[in-house]
Amino acid sequence: RTEFPRPKQPVVMTFANQKGGVGKTTSAVNVAAALADAGLEVVLIDIDPQGNASTALGAEHHAGTPSIYEVLLDGTPLAEVLQPCPDLAHLRVCPATLDLSGAEVELVDVPNREYLLERALRSFLRAEPEVDYVIIDCPPSLGMLTLNAFVAAREVLIPIQAEYYALEGLSSLLRAIERIKVKLNPELRVSNILVTMFDGRTNLSREVMAEVQNHFGKQLIHTPIPRSVRLSEAPSYSQSVISYDPRSTGAIAYRKAALEIAIRFGGK
Ligand code: ADP
Ligand code: MG
Repeated sequence: RTEFPRPKQPVVMTFANQKGGVGKTTSAVNVAAALADAGLEVVLIDIDPQGNASTALGAEHHAGTPSIYEVLLDGTPLAEVLQPCPDLAHLRVCPATLDLSGAEVELVDVPNREYLLERALRSFLRAEPEVDYVIIDCPPSLGMLTLNAFVAAREVLIPIQAEYYALEGLSSLLRAIERIKVKLNPELRVSNILVTMFDGRTNLSREVMAEVQNHFGKQLIHTPIPRSVRLSEAPSYSQSVISYDPRSTGAIAYRKAALEIAIRFGGK
């Protein structure tokens, strides 16, 4: 097995795109799983009220389960709500429940509401500095939850679906990130762009890849994620594809993409 380099400091990376269905959750779950499978210490934070990442990793997340909601709104320490992942020893999950669906509104009159996740993560990482990656799966919007992720993270990974209008909407996302950088988090940067649902047989997929390469040569992860039925099946077995079908094209691609990420941050 290839050795994944370890970062010197915890890397906090948020997976974001205000478009739904582009592969945010699938990528967050499987990159997290691939890093953990390689022995790195990983925490995945589900901050989407849909709880898709929680489902995909088999985390308990019925309403009332201690979750990201309690972390943000009650100040419960993050460590207290983390759940182990049955088949990946080095991966823990902070689940999201439907309780979170009211959070956007409940947060309106909370002081410093942009900093709640940042504060929770800061004390968590002070107690557990050996964590290598914290991966945050965002909802498909630029609301208060996504804003909390952008303030808590330093790195942003944007998944881009290989389809018509792939780059549409990207400029508003980049502008939002730029504003957050100026006002709330000067260290924030788009460090990784991952092309998802890639079909190498079509011109369209190859054109999207070339276009992204043109605009984001440095940030582009060179392994695109192919369309794969196994990737869409795995969540119904409460497993990442890394555990569910490690030899599938999707698992192989996510392991390669995760290795590229690990090399980028390795030793830094
Ligand atoms: P998002 O979190 O951005 O809304 P998801 O990761 O949930 O997107 O993906 C949307 C849908 O597409 C899901 O049903 C998922 O299983 C499926 N999907 C994502 N990536 C792939 C892929 N590479 N191949 C096949 N299906 C995929
Ligand atoms: Mg999602």
